[in-house]
Amino acid sequence: MSAEFELEHGLYLLHFEPAYRHARHYLGYADVIGRRVREHFAVPSKASPLVQAAIGAGCAVTLARVWPGLGRVDERRLKRRGGHASLCPLCIAADLVPASRRATVASGRPSRARRR
Ligand SMILES: [Zn+2]
Repeated sequence: MSAEFELEHGLYLLHFEPAYRHARHYLGYADVIGRRVREHFAVPSKASPLVQAAIGAGCAVTLARVWPGLGRVDERRLKRRGGHASLCPLCIAADLVPASRRATVASGRPSRARRR
C-alpha cells in the first residue's frame, strides 16, 4: 500500500474470493486507511465480524480499492447504492460485472480520488 494511504482517512473496499455466503465485499470507512486495513488482517483480528468470518472460512481477502478523502456520508451513500462489484476492479477484471453496470465505474462517483 502506498504511503499516502497510511495517513489519510477514506473508504476502502475488501474483496472476498470466493464469496463468503452472499458477501463478496466489505466496504468500510477508516480515519487512517492503512492502519485499519492492517487491523483486518492482524491476528488476533480487530476486523469486522464479516471479514473475520470470511477469513475463517478460508476466503482470500484482498484490498481491492481505496477512496482517500471520502467520508462517512459517502460510505452510507455507497452502501445504500449497493452493487459493490461494479466498484471493484477485481470483479470487473474477472468479468463478474455485466457491461451495463460498468459504465457506473467510469462515469459515476466516487471518482474524486482519480481526478486528483
Ligand atoms: Zn470484487
